[in-house]
Amino acid sequence: MNAHVEQLEFQAQARQLLDLMVHSVYSAKESFLRELISNASDALDKLRLESLRNKDLGVDTSDLHIEIEADKDARTLIVRDNGIGMTREEVVDLIGTLAKSGTAELREKLRAAKNAAASEELIGQFGIGFYSTFMVADRVELLTRKAGESDATRWVSSGDGTYTVESVDGAAQGTSITLHLKPEDTEDDLHDYTSEWKIRELVKKYSDFIAWPIRMQVERRTPATEEGGQERFTVETQTLNSMKALWAKSKDEVSEEEYKEFYKHIAHAWDDPLEIIAMKAEGTFEYQALLFIPSHAPFDLFARDGRIGVQLYVKRVFVMADCDQLLPGYLRFVKGVVDAADMSLNVSREILQQDRQVTAIRRRLTKKVLSTIKTLQSERPEDYRTLWTQFGAVLKEGLMSDFDNQETLLSISSFASTQGEEESTTLAEYVARMKDGQEQIFYATGQSRQQLLKSPHLEAFKAKGYEVLLLTDPVDEIWVGSVQEFGGKALQSVAKGEVDLDSEDEKAAQEAERLEAERDFADLLTWLQETLGEHVKEVRLSTRLTESPACLITDTFGITPALARMYRASGQAVPVGKRILELNPKHPLVTGLQQAHKSGGDDGQMRQLAETAELLYGTALLAEGDVPEDPAKFAGLLADRLARTV
Ligand code: ADP
Ligand code: MG
Repeated sequence: MNAHVEQLEFQAQARQLLDLMVHSVYSAKESFLRELISNASDALDKLRLESLRNKDLGVDTSDLHIEIEADKDARTLIVRDNGIGMTREEVVDLIGTLAKSGTAELREKLRAAKNAAASEELIGQFGIGFYSTFMVADRVELLTRKAGESDATRWVSSGDGTYTVESVDGAAQGTSITLHLKPEDTEDDLHDYTSEWKIRELVKKYSDFIAWPIRMQVERRTPATEEGGQERFTVETQTLNSMKALWAKSKDEVSEEEYKEFYKHIAHAWDDPLEIIAMKAEGTFEYQALLFIPSHAPFDLFARDGRIGVQLYVKRVFVMADCDQLLPGYLRFVKGVVDAADMSLNVSREILQQDRQVTAIRRRLTKKVLSTIKTLQSERPEDYRTLWTQFGAVLKEGLMSDFDNQETLLSISSFASTQGEEESTTLAEYVARMKDGQEQIFYATGQSRQQLLKSPHLEAFKAKGYEVLLLTDPVDEIWVGSVQEFGGKALQSVAKGEVDLDSEDEKAAQEAERLEAERDFADLLTWLQETLGEHVKEVRLSTRLTESPACLITDTFGITPALARMYRASGQAVPVGKRILELNPKHPLVTGLQQAHKSGGDDGQMRQLAETAELLYGTALLAEGDVPEDPAKFAGLLADRLARTV
């Protein structure tokens, strides 16, 4: 038995969050109770599942429940459960550190957050659960014993930088959390979290739907009677919540508030849902679903180990958290519950993967979520925009993985474009604005709107007044490879293949000019192709440049450098094909080069020309936000050249 009291420091990131909690001005401090009850409920779910899996656990699960105990004089509030409990290591891990993904970003953003309200919102997105107790308590004690273990652990902290842990015996199995409430909230019943009235109100408000009983001992007063009966006080145990399964009810039987609180519980979220979807399916596969589209993206949306998926119930019994089989990956931001009538309580993730019923449910839910988004788009554009800002990058993953719904996905997608500063556009809107004779939807991929707008690839499109979609999410590089067209119009990258922006009339007029240019430049092009052979596979004259001397073009079906980089980052080696260097025959650098090449010269002069070719190629890379393959060499060449002109 280790009676030794160990003092430990909170992990730095945890400390920073804790500090925010301690000094919180969060308007709804009372939500700490929801967090504690939510954790207790999770712990009870886990224990029930564990006892099904492990028959030798030797734990009595006949009366799983949550208990609240308040002491007005001592100013303590205890929330107790007889759930799974935690080992000492788990306490240190789960409570002492922030083991969640995305913590680094959160810290970054918190530092940048301008005011308390902004910080609160960030915290909300992150969901700090247990730490919310420090909004109302100046000391928190946690006593816990894991199911199947004999040692218990006591954890104590005042919300400063440190906490203590010690092993103790004789504790009941499960977890009990004692809050020593801060003094400032004593003035009236309204804020006194030890008042029976207040606790009832909070449980009703935040936790009524919790599937386990939340009990409290209450004092009953029997008044004195005229016949001489004395005033009496008796104590009785009451269950404070109704334990109603919201998903089993129709939407008009449930209030907005009830839905919101339920969402916060199952999604571990602090925001309000943007949209609520209630579904009931009858027939071969019977199930009910209650889904929520959040209004904020969680921090771990793009983390591999992020918490995704909905909760699976079978006939009102909780079976699995984070069940990622019921919705496709690109809808991983959707939270909620699916309650299937006809499934084994012991169902495993492996079984789910091949289950026909699960496949059918996933198909239906996917269609329903997508059609809901479509309705949002036409009926609540403001909310649709929020949704797209938060989850658009995730939804677009569906364009390359879910071909059945590709068309719907394309129709609900919106993109930044050269048309309009802030406003994004749908493809349908783009097509409606297309110029006479325009047959393709033009797009550019890159890292930012700013960078793209300055890209040489866009010059002719701008000059000739063609609208170009500006795609700046990493996923854009990938899905454009799997989408051929929208509404009969092909998608065309401004940096790929040949572009043809001239009308028939213009073409005829330019034909002669072009032939002549090609003749004039033929020698230069051949020479450049040899000189730059290790970098590019072809050098040709461009129809897309009006200002820049040169740009690099990928073959119609080639892999762009950005895409190659993404593959490499994910550990996949892909051959990067050489690209095509396009020259602007009107640019002085190109005409100058042509003249110099024509006149020829001695070895020294030819070497200098070759350097100019290198510089030309390097600037084409720089202009698209890339770096020359040998930056030091490029910088050296450039510096030499500049030295001669100053
Ligand atoms: P979250 O609930 O979002 O995971 P919390 O901060 O609320 O975050 O809780 C952190 C973790 O601590 C939980 O995931 C759980 O593993 C553990 N925990 C908290 N409360 C309990 C409890 N009453 N019983 C067992 N484990 C708990
Ligand atoms: Mg929690």
